Amino acid sequence: MGHFPRILSHSRRLIASALVSGGYGGGRGRFTGLASGYGWRSRFGGRNGVRLLVAAGTMLCMDTSSTPPESRRAARRSLEALALGDAFGERWFPLFRFREGLVPDKAYEDVRARRLPDGPVWHWTDDTAMALALHLVLTQHGHVDQDRLAACFALTFDADQGRGYGHGMHVLLPELLVHPGDWRTLAPTLFEGGSLGNGAAMRVAPLGAWFAYDLELASAQAQLSAEVTHAHPQGVAGAVAVAVAAALSVRGELTLAEVAARTPAGPVRDGLLKAAALPFTTEPWKAADLLGNGQHIRADDTVPFAVWTAARHPASLEDALWATAEGFGDVDTTCAITGGIVGARVGVEGMPGEWLERREGLG
Ligand SMILES: [Mg+2]
Repeated sequence: MGHFPRILSHSRRLIASALVSGGYGGGRGRFTGLASGYGWRSRFGGRNGVRLLVAAGTMLCMDTSSTPPESRRAARRSLEALALGDAFGERWFPLFRFREGLVPDKAYEDVRARRLPDGPVWHWTDDTAMALALHLVLTQHGHVDQDRLAACFALTFDADQGRGYGHGMHVLLPELLVHPGDWRTLAPTLFEGGSLGNGAAMRVAPLGAWFAYDLELASAQAQLSAEVTHAHPQGVAGAVAVAVAAALSVRGELTLAEVAARTPAGPVRDGLLKAAALPFTTEPWKAADLLGNGQHIRADDTVPFAVWTAARHPASLEDALWATAEGFGDVDTTCAITGGIVGARVGVEGMPGEWLERREGLG
């Protein structure tokens, strides 16, 4: 994927960060003094952008007094598990892509044997970076404010562009850094009709966990969160499906039929209905063959399989992630989605210590 490095002045970054914070007051010294929170650190630099983002988040107008405490806990559980799934899946990604169209035998055997991937640190990718931005808006506002979400996405991207973002985000997010409100005109023009990729779905599980007490609200907020970057109806549908699945997971009510029933009509829902008819005795690699594994980077190619593995293992994050990895394809994203859904209920505490030691933390 191409990179579009650009150097933005401090003042231009402040336009976006000021929108996030609701005003220009304060200045950099005040930002730095207030900085706390996630404590993100870039693998490739960009600490100033991170500092601004975190500081901007701490300066948001607080409007979350009515948020049930369990919403915050569920969203945090989901976020942690999403990041773990993302980082775990990412370790397999280059192995699976080693030969075009063929899965290397060793990678397949390692997954089947549950041998952990190499690497002292499992870094998370764009899935987690965007989930962190969305989670930050929720924790500060209690709902999706689209302009502020656009600004948060842009600042997150600017802070660390090396997280494996797709081409569309490399085009869109630098523009939103300058004018966050332009998502209204720019997002629908991506890929001639808006992106129908899996990017809105991959980041949204913590939102579903947050609004688990109201499935209609979870669906509506997921739609708002998607529209900022993925304007195509199927890009939105993917996000709605994953948010609903995470909400149902929190409630202990996750079924593919219920997720499909609450997903807008189209290929994503069709895939979920196909998944609902697929017995859980089916081998995961076979399910991925039938449902898609994200290799086309579309929501309808990604979401049905990831929700199917989550519903197959609703009480075991470890089993769910191994099953998802067996599907290969866009494996960091499928594992992020499955992890966010299952983790919304069970968290990461029950995972083996080696997983938790190797994952890149959230701060
Ligand atoms: Mg990724």
